Amino acid sequence: MYRLTIKDEKNRYELTELAKMFVSADELDTSADGPDSFCIPGADELDRNAQKRVLYGYMAELSGKQLSWGTLTGVRPLKLFNKLVRQCGTPSGAEDILKSEYLVSPEKTSLLRKVWDTQSRISFNRDPKAVGVYIGIPFCPTRCLYCSFTSNKYSREKSEAYLKALELEMYAVAELFRTKGLYADSIYIGGGTPSSLEEDQFQWLTDKAAASFLTAKTAEFTVECGRPDSITVGKLKALVKSGCGRISINPQSMQPKTLELIGRAHRPEDINKAFALAKDAGVKIINADLIAGLPSEKPEDMADSLKKIMDLGPQNITVHTLAVKRGSRLIEQDKDMSYSAGDVVSEMLSESFASLEKAGYAPYYLYRQKHMAGNMENTGWSLPGCESIYNIRIMEEDQSIIALGAGGVSKIYYPEEDRIERVANVSNYEIYTERIREMIKRKEDAL
Ligand code: SF4
Repeated sequence: MYRLTIKDEKNRYELTELAKMFVSADELDTSADGPDSFCIPGADELDRNAQKRVLYGYMAELSGKQLSWGTLTGVRPLKLFNKLVRQCGTPSGAEDILKSEYLVSPEKTSLLRKVWDTQSRISFNRDPKAVGVYIGIPFCPTRCLYCSFTSNKYSREKSEAYLKALELEMYAVAELFRTKGLYADSIYIGGGTPSSLEEDQFQWLTDKAAASFLTAKTAEFTVECGRPDSITVGKLKALVKSGCGRISINPQSMQPKTLELIGRAHRPEDINKAFALAKDAGVKIINADLIAGLPSEKPEDMADSLKKIMDLGPQNITVHTLAVKRGSRLIEQDKDMSYSAGDVVSEMLSESFASLEKAGYAPYYLYRQKHMAGNMENTGWSLPGCESIYNIRIMEEDQSIIALGAGGVSKIYYPEEDRIERVANVSNYEIYTERIREMIKRKEDAL
C-alpha cells in the first residue's frame, strides 16, 4: 500500500490523479497521515506543478515506473503546449519547458510538437458566428467489450421515438441559428453508430441534418459509420447525396480473433468491402480507427493491422490506446489492464507512429483519457490537407460546438475570456425523448 498525506486541499485531485497513474486506486491511500506516510516536503511553498514533480519522483522510485507524459494528468496536452508557446515565444522553448518542468519524455514532446506544426499550417475559421454541430445516435449493432458510452442495441422501435425527438431538437437549433446569425462550420454525426439505423432512417437523418445545418460556408460534414457490417450501398449513396464528404469506418483491429473477443460482429473482409463500397459511392475522405492494447494482442498484431489498413488507403487513421473504463465489460475481466499493458502499448505506438510517418501521414490532433493503458494517448493522423477540423476544435475548445441528441454536451465558447461553458443533454435516450422540450430550452437559454 502506498500512503500519501496530501495537505494541500486545492491540489488534492491532481496529485491523487498523478499517483493513480503509477499504481491502482486499491494500492493507494491518500487520506493517510502518520510516520509511514509520504508528505510532500515544503508543499506550502511550492506551486502545483512543483508539488507534482516531487510526488512524481517519490512514486517513480517506489514503483520503478516512469510516465511518458511526466506530471501531465489532463486530457488536452496540446492546450498546455499552445500556452507555453505564447509564454516563451517559440515552440522549441515550449518543448524545453515540457521536458524540464513537466518531465514529459522526448518522444511525447516531439509528438506534441508535430501536432502543433500540423495545426499551425491549417487556417481555421475564427468567425465567432461559425460553430460546430454534433448529432448523436446512441445505437450500435452490438456492445463492444471496452465500451463505456451510452450505447444501446439498435432496434427499429427504440430508434423511431428517438429520431422524432431529435427532429424537434434539430428544428429548434436550426431556428436558433437563424435568429442568432450562427452557421455550422462543421457537422459531425456520431454515436454510437449512426449507420446502425436502417436505410430509410439513415437517409432521413443525413437529409435532415443537411437541410438544417449545411450551408455554403460549412467546411466539412462527417458521418461515423464505425461498424463495417452496418454499411450498405444505400446508406453510402444517401450520405454522399446529402453532402457528406467524410466517414469513419473503424476496424479497431484486423485480427479475426481479436474482433471476436471484443464483441464486434465483423471480420477483416467486411472492412475491405466497406472501403471499396465507400470509394465507389464517392466518399472523399475516410478515417479508420485502430486501438493499441486490445486484449491478447501483441505488437506484431498491431503492426499487421496497421499495414492492412494503410493498404486500403484511408486519408485519416486514428490510433487509440485502449482505455479500461468503469461501465465497460472489460474492467470486470481485468481491472488492472491499464497498468499491466503499458510496455506492450508503448511499443505498439512507437512502431505505428514510425510506419505512419513513413507512409506520409502526420499527427494532427491528440488527446488523453483516464485509465488508458500505459497512460498513453489517442492520436489522429492525416495525409496533408485531409485533417478533420471538427476533431481538432472539439479538443482545443476554441469554438462553440452545439451537441444534439442523448448524451450530447454542447460547449459554448466565450472568446474574450477563452472559456467554455457546458450545456448537457441527458444521456439516457428514453429520458431524452421524454424530456426533449427541456433539452431544447437548455440550449435556448445558453445561446
Ligand atoms: S461502437 Fe463505440 S459506442 Fe458502439 S458499442 Fe462499440 S465502443 Fe460503444
